[in-house]
Amino acid sequence: MEKIVILTGAGISAESGLSTFRDEGGLWAQHRIEDVATPEGFARDPDLVQDFYNARRVQAAQVQPNAAHQALARLQSEWPSEVVIVTQNVDSLHEAGGAENVIHMHGRLDGALCAACGHRWAAPPEMAVGEPCPACAEPTARPDVVWFGEMPYHMEEIYSHLSSASVFAAIGTSGQVYPAAAFVHEAQAAGAHTIEINLEPTMGTSGFDDRLVGKATETVPQWVNRLLQQKD
Ligand code: NAD
Ligand code: ZN
Repeated sequence: MEKIVILTGAGISAESGLSTFRDEGGLWAQHRIEDVATPEGFARDPDLVQDFYNARRVQAAQVQPNAAHQALARLQSEWPSEVVIVTQNVDSLHEAGGAENVIHMHGRLDGALCAACGHRWAAPPEMAVGEPCPACAEPTARPDVVWFGEMPYHMEEIYSHLSSASVFAAIGTSGQVYPAAAFVHEAQAAGAHTIEINLEPTMGTSGFDDRLVGKATETVPQWVNRLLQQKD
């Protein structure tokens, strides 16, 4: 049976109340990306960066998964073959919605990483600058998120899934951040049927075979229902 690979972005969590990159008034709008989401920004002003992620961690802990997260979890449990969810999101709403084995290519807000030795542990609600690493005691704790200029996680595993996908869907992602923006081409090269599900058509839309435009909480359950009906 057919393997489905799904890439999600900030748009799938928007209706849960987490702002996307470009949302006006959102956390991201109040800061420059270079200041809060690059290794150079962290080196320059670690307090600002920790504060930014502390605020996002608090916000993410307060919100609930929405109908789109839940529909993908349902697809995973009812589809007769593998359904792989790859997310660029650092929240845990897929998991809260019941999804399993979610691949977090940009890390997670609830994780801490030691910049010195690579040790990982569960992040406290508030991380402080200079906090010692539990493994090597260096004061080099940072959020376990992938910043611009850093290598996304699990790329080998993701490419292997893309090369064996029959269906590839990109949901709530603007397709402007590489390498995720190129996944559609990888999947197409492997012969997958590709679909974009987004609030508005994106620049990368021409690369997709199919498109569903609208709010994720409406379009994703529709798409999942359609797939599960086809299966029967
Ligand atoms: P993006 O902000 O660049 O794009 C979001 C896309 O979602 C846009 O194309 C927008 O039209 C669409 N969208 C907005 N509301 C929607 C809705 N209700 N239904 C369907 N689509 C909707 O986000 P991106 O492509 O994920 O790339 C941004 C980067 O920012 C990622 O690296 C990610 O790690 C990070 N980020 C993560 C979160 C999170 O974890 N929740 C939030 C903001 C940014
Ligand atoms: Zn360490």
